Parts: sequence; structure tokens; C-alpha cells
Amino acid sequence: MAKIKKPRIVTPIPGPKARKVIERHNKYMATTTNDPKHAPLVIDSGEGVWFKDVDGNTILDFSSGIAVLNTGIRHPEVEKAIREQLRKIWHAAGTDFYNLPQVELAEELDKITPGKFEKKTFLSNSGTESVEAAIKVAKWATQRKWFIGFIGAFHGRTLGSMSFTASKPHHRSRMFPVMTGVEHVPYPNPYRNPWHIDGYEQPDELVNRAIEYIDEYVFNHYVPADEVAAILLEAVQGEGGYVVPPKNFLRELKKLADQHDIKLIDDEIQMGMGRTGKMFAIEHFGVAPDILCTAKALGSGIPIGATVFRKELDFGISGVHSNTYGGNSIACAAALATIKVIKGGMVQNAAKLGRLFKERLEEMQDKYKTIGDVRGLGLAWGVEFVKDRKTKEYAKEPREKILLEALKNGLALLGCGTSSIRLIPALNITEEEAKIGLDIFEKAIVTETK
Ligand code: PLP
Repeated sequence: MAKIKKPRIVTPIPGPKARKVIERHNKYMATTTNDPKHAPLVIDSGEGVWFKDVDGNTILDFSSGIAVLNTGIRHPEVEKAIREQLRKIWHAAGTDFYNLPQVELAEELDKITPGKFEKKTFLSNSGTESVEAAIKVAKWATQRKWFIGFIGAFHGRTLGSMSFTASKPHHRSRMFPVMTGVEHVPYPNPYRNPWHIDGYEQPDELVNRAIEYIDEYVFNHYVPADEVAAILLEAVQGEGGYVVPPKNFLRELKKLADQHDIKLIDDEIQMGMGRTGKMFAIEHFGVAPDILCTAKALGSGIPIGATVFRKELDFGISGVHSNTYGGNSIACAAALATIKVIKGGMVQNAAKLGRLFKERLEEMQDKYKTIGDVRGLGLAWGVEFVKDRKTKEYAKEPREKILLEALKNGLALLGCGTSSIRLIPALNITEEEAKIGLDIFEKAIVTETK
């Protein structure tokens, strides 16, 4: 495919072919999160940051398949590694026999994850599976039963991870009872928190309140701290709205956890792999977790999850935890190539272009009253839409209209939180491409909120 410089719209979106696929989809596919009201995009192929839909429209991708395509669509080096592995073996039964790609991947994860201590890795197939493994590692190693999770978090949709997920009520609708022993506490969201503290103006005050809540209210009254296995959080919340906590929060939280020998589990499934301008988001806060979960971008689109943890937490007994596809040969080859290309300049590009996003989005916030908050790091940005800046009432409908309007003009975006939009292009996007996308986004805001 030749290098494309601009979106090219040749039919309305959805076009005639897309409409037919959506109709067949709705007839045969189980309902998930698809919503033709604001994302009627039927993808056919792609390269770099550009999708082609089935009607021949060329769309700029600011969604990265929900933070999966950090290396862009079909990165040539990742594709080469997959092709080479395809010619050797696809599945080498890595939990029963042994194979080199999974060992090499574990070695690489040991190097790139924070913490100068010895680590072990459990390989799986998705984000939720890597969180389930983290829960089991923490339970096994500590022999404790309680956990702390955060309001606004998203950790997956299987029973264990769903018990922590708390970003939208319908994620848990009709699913009770979930895993017992998970207590949710407020996340120090600088823009919206139960104490109505402006966390941008008073970050330390917000951190103190959030830590005090866990220590003085939860631990002091009904959850025995010495029976808590782990605290699970996203260093930067993703589905909850791309929320960046105050700088000191992670350090204070780790201090509290260490006081009670509680393990810290950091879910980097959405924010990891270079997305925030560092390999893992938690590195912005100077903390090393005891257990780290990664997935999504790790395989550049080939399904894989990894749970990386302190060596001493390992199960140590054969068969306590395992799976069929963990360490899949194709997935490991993709992950090794992904790590190599992300390390080869993409983290720096995310940090560099992050400054452009910050500048442009904050300019938009100054211009358009409908934007309540702009937050992010690297190439992970959230823009929250409100009906009124004072009351901060969520503006859900304008958000949906902006998403659709942007798509019609050739920019694919995704919502997050209650009324936010996330801007998460591939980490190798050029400045020129980034500016094209930001212009379309701004135009959509103007069109839909004037
Ligand atoms: N954790 C986080 C932070 C996520 O963003 C997600 C998915 O969006 C998950 C876990 C679950 O990952 P998966 O959908 O691969 O199971």
C-alpha cells in the first residue's frame, strides 16, 4: 500500500458494503460493545496508522484497536517475525513442554518491567487472563483473602477481574455475586473525586485523602490490613476516562502497602508498552509493583497476556496455575519483535508527540466550553465533555456525536469514561499525521457543539 497522507472519504460512513456487514453482524454475532450509532466502521485492511474500510474509505486511526496497535497496523518487523515463526511451529505446548521463544520473552519482560529484583512470568492470551493470574499469584503467595480495588477501574470481564472492574455499572449487571473480598476505594481523580478537591491545584491534599480513606476508614474499621493480599490498580486509568493521578499517589500507596506486607498489582494492559512515553505508566511515578499485568499492545494484535511478578511469589508447585495457549509460539514471536521495535524509538516518539497533543488539546479546552478536562501522558489522552463547567454534568450525547462526526471525516476515535473521548494513535505516528487527526477532532467539536 502506498504511503497515504490524508483520509480519503469516497462513500458516506457506513457505505453500502459496510451496512451489509453490520446487518449480518447484528444477525449472527453476540452483542458486545459495538455501537453503530457512533462507530459504524467496517475495517477491511490497514497499514501504519491508516485503515481501509470495506467501501474503500481511508481512515486515520486514533484508536489503535483499544491500545493494541501501539506499533501501528502490520509493522513490517513484527510481520517478519510472525512469518518466520509460522514456518517453524505455531503451538509448542509451552505449559507442558519447553520452547525458546517463551523463555526469551520472559527474559525480555524481566528486563523491561520496573523493579531491580528477580522476576517470573506467567504467559496467557488476554488482559483479563493476566489479571486472573495476578489475583491467584497474590492469593497463593500471601495466603490472604482480601483485596483493594479502585472506583473507575477496568481490569477485565471474567469473574475475578470483573470483581475489580468498577468503571460502568452495566459491566457487572446481573453478575452478582462476584468474587468476595474485593473492597473498592476512590481513585484520586484530580477532576472528579468524592471530596471535590481540585487535584490539579492541590495534588498532595488529594493524595492524602485517598490514602487516608484506605488506612483510616477501610483498614481501621472493617478490612483487616494484615489479611489483605494485594491492592490492584491501573497506574493511569484507561476505560475509566484516561485519568492520571497526582504524582505522589503511587509512592504513598506503595508505602502503605509495604507497611502491611500487601502486594501491589499494577495493571498496565492499556497504558503499558510505551503508550505513555515510558515503557510502563507506573515508571512516571517512581514505583515498582510486585506484580505487573500486560497484554493488548504486547503482541501488536496477536493475542497475548503476561503477568510478571517477584520471583518469591511464584507458585513453585506444578499445576497450581496453567493454561493451554500461554506461551503460544506465534504470540511470543510477535511480542519479542514488538518489544524490539517499541524500544527502538517509539517510546521517545510517544513522549515527543505527547507534547503536541497536550498543547493542542489544552488550546481546545481554552476555546470550547464543552471540554471540562484534558489529561494524559505521551500518546494516551482523554478529553472529557461536560454540559456545564461548574456543575461538571456529563455530556454523553455530544460525545457520541463528535465521535461520529470525526469518523465521517476520516478519523477513528473511541470513547471512554462516562463522557470522554480517548486519543490513542500508534506510537510511530508522524507529526504530520498527528496534526491531521487533531484538526479533524477539533472540527468535529466545532460542528457538534456550536
Ligand atoms: N485491564 C485493562 C486496564 C484494560 O484496559 C483491559 C481491556 O480493555 C483489560 C484489563 C482486559 O483485557 P482483555 O480485554 O484483553 O481481557
